[in-house]
Amino acid sequence: MKIKYVSKEKLFPAFGDATEIPPKIRIRKDLPKVVKRFVLEHEKYHIKDWQSLTKKRQKV
Ligand SMILES: [Zn+2]
Repeated sequence: MKIKYVSKEKLFPAFGDATEIPPKIRIRKDLPKVVKRFVLEHEKYHIKDWQSLTKKRQKV
């Protein structure tokens, strides 16, 4: 999974975002280190959610 740190103008008002395909996370580079770590974990959950949803859809 790709992780990219971008300027706050690109993501404002969000702290980060996640894209499912291809798996990619963007995080604001101006955030304090602890916040970046938190946002990264949060965005990873979004990707896991999407992946499990996709699996469920394929089973049906
Ligand atoms: Zn979120």
